[in-house]
Amino acid sequence: MSQQKIRVRFAPSPTGLLHVGNARTALYNWLFARRTGGDFLLRIEDTDVERSDARFESQLYDDLRWLGLDWEEGPHSGQPNDGPCGPYRQSERLEIYRAHTEQLLHEGKAYRCFCTAEQLEAERTAAIAAQQPQVYSGRCRALSDAESARRATAGESFAVRLRIPDAPLRFDDIVRGPVEFAAEAVSDPILVRSGGMPVYNYVVTVDDALMGITHVIRGDDHLSNTPKQVAIYHAFGWPLPRFAHLSTILGPDRTRLSKRHGATSLASFREMGILPEALANYLALLGWGAEGGTRETFTLPELTQAFTLERVTPSPAVFDPQKLHWLNRHYIKQAAPERIATLARPAFVQTGWLPAQTDNAAIEAWFAQVVALFAPSVDQLDQLPQKARFLFALDAQTAAAEPENAAVLATEIAQSVLKDFAARIAALPAPVTPEAFKDVMNAVKAATGAKGKDLFHPVRIALTGAHSGPEFDKVIPLVETGSRLPLPTPVASVQTRAAQSLLQRPSA
Ligand code: GLU
Repeated sequence: MSQQKIRVRFAPSPTGLLHVGNARTALYNWLFARRTGGDFLLRIEDTDVERSDARFESQLYDDLRWLGLDWEEGPHSGQPNDGPCGPYRQSERLEIYRAHTEQLLHEGKAYRCFCTAEQLEAERTAAIAAQQPQVYSGRCRALSDAESARRATAGESFAVRLRIPDAPLRFDDIVRGPVEFAAEAVSDPILVRSGGMPVYNYVVTVDDALMGITHVIRGDDHLSNTPKQVAIYHAFGWPLPRFAHLSTILGPDRTRLSKRHGATSLASFREMGILPEALANYLALLGWGAEGGTRETFTLPELTQAFTLERVTPSPAVFDPQKLHWLNRHYIKQAAPERIATLARPAFVQTGWLPAQTDNAAIEAWFAQVVALFAPSVDQLDQLPQKARFLFALDAQTAAAEPENAAVLATEIAQSVLKDFAARIAALPAPVTPEAFKDVMNAVKAATGAKGKDLFHPVRIALTGAHSGPEFDKVIPLVETGSRLPLPTPVASVQTRAAQSLLQRPSA
């Protein structure tokens, strides 16, 4: 057994967008496989035909690849039949399940249940009234083979139930330790519904066994399903895999993380401009910590070295957006500036500030500098347009009306600084250089007697619309270069900004 190659799987249902909880499950499976030299399989659990959607399936592949995960076997694995245990979509495996059901019926491990929905409902109601557990009475358990076959042949519809032996169902969970469920708590579970559709617990077990899965790593919302699956392994005489149930992810209010708490899908994090390496790092730490340390930043290759299931914690993990932002800032700073510019660009096209086509090298080079200046100060890349807004769309009137700015501009000294500044800037040859700007500021200081905040705040508001922000040495060349580029919304030059600041007067 110890020599056996490790095989794990991620088995999503394509019924919605991949959310962080499932993405963490995928990541832990992948890390465990990479760490141990095992195989990572992807299986699409699409037996819920009504709710499954091909759109979600293809989004799922995109999301997993975006996060940096790949798979040896599964749809689009590039192998014949997508791998040796294919097909990997449950909707294409119905014949396999049918044959296994025949086997169980034949061996007496399962039986046909002819109980109608009304009968079962009546049993449930009676159990509730008697304060008894709501489990199947076992009415069809005792039907003779002949009787069962006769009713089936006569066309009576039936479900197939597993005959659970009267013994506790046990398994060893890597995260939670030994787990035991009483047989009565499970009763005789349905394997195949009366319409002929096999149920999740059944198909997942058949697939895990036939695909040679050695470790089932999944969310603890499946913990109560596991005894049923264990009983199915026993019925077929298959060895149990090891199980590892990952704790629930909670929101900051300690209720189960859901859309109520804000973004939870991978697609939304990607749209916000969370980098995949930041999200992967964050998800890895959501319920796992490296041996003997408080280290928090791990790239995927580093995680594949450090990850062990033994260090996965059973206590619930609380999703902390601030920590995700902290990691994102870390990775934004580490990333190649061109990559960040490429990722940030669509948002600037959307605001109408950049042309859709990227064939103007001067524009692209300038934009890369814009992004390099602001990226270190954002939590996520979709905050960049707001940070850089003053370059593209500074409205002097609106800026002057901002309460903080209005208070600065209301003073007499501010007004004389601006007047003197605008006159001196207007007299300069364009483009204004940072050196020329510095000289102007010294001259304004001498002429007006203003210094420090009194000198710099009004000028800063004139040029950038705010009294704090990046250094003038960086802002001025960006403004001046931008103003000479053929952009869809022209960037106002330093001189234009200085002149416009005089056209408005704060109302105060
Ligand atoms: N399709 C199930 C889910 O998405 C898979 C559960 C499992 O891993 O067994 O929750």
